[in-house]
Amino acid sequence: MAKIGINIATGSLQKEEIIVGIDLGTTNSLISIIHPDTKQPVALKEHNSSLPTGQAGSLVPSIVHFDSKGNITVGESAKQYLITEPHNTIFSAKRLMGKSYNDIKNNSSFFTYKVIDDDTESLVKVQAGQKFYSPIELSSFILKELKQRAEHILKTPVNKAVVTVPAYFNDTQRQATRDAGKLAGLDVLRIINEPTAASLAYGIGLNKQEHKTIAVYDLGGGTFDISILKISNGIFEVLSTNGDTYLGGDDFDNAIVKFWLQKLSLKEEELKNNKQFAQSIRLKAEEAKKQLSFKEEFVGQLNYSSPLADGGGPEGAGHELKISKSEFEELIRPYIDKTIACCKNAMKDAKLTNADIDVIVMVGGSTRIPMIKKIISDFFGKAVNDTMNPDEVVALGAALQADILAGNNKEFLLLDITPLSLGIETRGGLMDILISRNSKIPTKASRQYTTQVNGQSGIKISVYQGERDMVKDNRKLAAFNLTNIPAMPAGLPKVEISFLINADGILIVKAKELRSGIEQSIEVQPQYGLTDQQVEKMLLESITHAKDDIATRALLEAKTEGEQLLETTEKFIYKNANELLVGELETTAEAMQALQLALTMEDKDLIHSKIEELNNISRPYAERIMDQAVSKAMQGKTIS
Ligand code: ADP
Ligand code: MG
Repeated sequence: MAKIGINIATGSLQKEEIIVGIDLGTTNSLISIIHPDTKQPVALKEHNSSLPTGQAGSLVPSIVHFDSKGNITVGESAKQYLITEPHNTIFSAKRLMGKSYNDIKNNSSFFTYKVIDDDTESLVKVQAGQKFYSPIELSSFILKELKQRAEHILKTPVNKAVVTVPAYFNDTQRQATRDAGKLAGLDVLRIINEPTAASLAYGIGLNKQEHKTIAVYDLGGGTFDISILKISNGIFEVLSTNGDTYLGGDDFDNAIVKFWLQKLSLKEEELKNNKQFAQSIRLKAEEAKKQLSFKEEFVGQLNYSSPLADGGGPEGAGHELKISKSEFEELIRPYIDKTIACCKNAMKDAKLTNADIDVIVMVGGSTRIPMIKKIISDFFGKAVNDTMNPDEVVALGAALQADILAGNNKEFLLLDITPLSLGIETRGGLMDILISRNSKIPTKASRQYTTQVNGQSGIKISVYQGERDMVKDNRKLAAFNLTNIPAMPAGLPKVEISFLINADGILIVKAKELRSGIEQSIEVQPQYGLTDQQVEKMLLESITHAKDDIATRALLEAKTEGEQLLETTEKFIYKNANELLVGELETTAEAMQALQLALTMEDKDLIHSKIEELNNISRPYAERIMDQAVSKAMQGKTIS
C-alpha cells in the first residue's frame, strides 16, 4: 500500500490518516505518534510553548479551569489556579470516571471542588461555577486540548486515537474514556492498558516468540499501580494488579511542605488561611523534589511574607527553603514501603515468586527518584528498565499500538479477529456457534431459543470457545442463569441470546426473554489466557476430530429431535384427548414406542425414520387441531 508520510516540519499532507497514542493521566496527559521518518514513537512537544525552561514540554497537566465567564483552560495555565481557585479548578477527573457518589464518598475530602451528591447510584457530576460537568466531559476537555495541540504541531487533522487506561479499569470506566474521546471529536480505535503500553514502548511483546513475565511499577502524581503481566505470542495477559489510588508524588510534595513549615515555625493552618502562600510553597516543594532526583541538596527562596510568621520579616522578604536528599528520602520512605507491600500482594495474587519476574518496567514521573529505583530493584533482585522517559513511556506505547492498528507493523499479532469460534451449549451438550472464528471485531450476533419444560423459570447459558461440535471438547468461558422467566408452556418463551465483541476484545453475552423483557448479561475476555499455540492446537483438534464430531453431532441432533417430538406429542395428546379418534390414539402410541426403541438403540438412521413415521401419523390431526404454541415447540430449538 502506497503511503505518503507527513513531514512534521512542513506539515505536508499525508494520504493515510494519522492515529495518535494518548496517555490520559490522573496528573498529566500527553499525546504521541510514530515519527514518519525515524519510525520511532515520539511525544509531541510544543516547541514555542511558554513553559518554564527545563519543564518537559510534552506533558499537559490534567487540570481544567473555568473562569467566571465560563471560559475553559486546560493544562499548565489551569494549574496556576489549583490552590487559589479550588472550586473552579478541576484536577484528578480521571478518578471520577464511571463512578457514583457512593464509590467516592469515603474520599470526598480529597476533592477541593464540589462533587455533587444527589442520587447516590447515578454517575457523579462536578460543579464549577453555575454549571455541572460529568467526568466524561471534563476528560473530553483534556482530550480536546491534546487533539488541538497535536493538530497545531502536525498541521494536519487528528481524528483517531488509541487511549490508555489503568489495567484495573472496569468496562464502565473504559466506556467512559471512549465517550470522552467521542466528545472531543476523537474516534477511539482502541483502549489499551497502561502497563501493556509501557511494556510495548520498551519493545517487550513485539517479538512473537517472546515469553516473559513483567512487573510494571507505575508511580504517578496521585496514584500507584503495580501490574504483573504475562506476555506470550504477542498477547498480554494481566495476571494481577494492586496499588493505592491515593498515593503518589503529590504526597511527597506535601511532605516537603510540612517539613518546611516546621523549619519556618509556621502552623499548617497557614496553608488554609493563605491560599497564595499555599500555592507558592507547594510549587516550590515540587520543584525541590524534582531537583533532588539529580542533586544532593535543594536551596530556594519563597518570596512571600506571611502575616502569621513568628517575628515576621519585613514585607516582601524571602524565606529560604532548604532540603537535602537524605532528609527528603527519610520523608518519603513510609510511602515507598507501602508500595512494596502492594508489590508483595500483587505477586501473591499472580502466584509467582520475585524470581519469576523477567523484566521490571518503571513508569510515572515519580520513579525518577533514585531511591525508589534502588528499592524496587532490590526487591525483585534485578535491575529495572528506566532508560525511557517514565512520564512519556505510556503514551509512546499507545502510539506503537496505533501504528499496529494502522497496519504498519504486520509482524505483530493483532487481536482484530476472533481466533476461535464463540457459542453456547444447547441441548445434548452441543456447541451452537454464534460468532465463527476469524470474524472481524467488533462484531455481534444473536439467535432465539426457547424452553423445553412447561413453566421453566430459568435457563442456564454456558458460553464456550472452540471449533469442536461438543462443548465438552471446547473451552468454557463463562456461564450464567437467566432467571425469573414467567411461567409459560414449554416452547413459548422466546429467549434471545446476543453476543457482542467490542473493539477491546471484550465479549458481552446478553440473554433476554422477549415476551417478558427480563434480561441478564455477562462480560468475558475471550483472548485472555490463550496463547497462539493453544489456539492452533484447538484448531488442529477440530480438524482431526472432524469426522467423529460430525457423526456424534448427527446422532445427538437426531436424539434431541426424537426426544422433543416424543415430549410434544405426548403433551399434545394429553391436552387434546377429547378431539382425537381412538384409531389415531392407537397408531400414535405405536409410533411413539417405535421411536423410543430407536432412541435407546442410538441408531441415527432408525431414529430419523421413526421420527418421520410419527410425524406422518400426527400431522393430519395436528393440522386439524392447530395449536400455535405447540407447533412452535415442535420446531423450536431448546437450551438445556
Ligand atoms: P500520572 O500518571 O498520575 O498522570 P505522571 O506519571 O505524569 O502522573 O507523574 C507525575 C508526578 O511525577 C508528579 O507528582 C511529579 O511531581 C512527579 N515527578 C516528575 N518529575 C519528577 C522527578 N524528576 N523527580 C521526582 N518526581 C517527579
Ligand atoms: Mg500515568
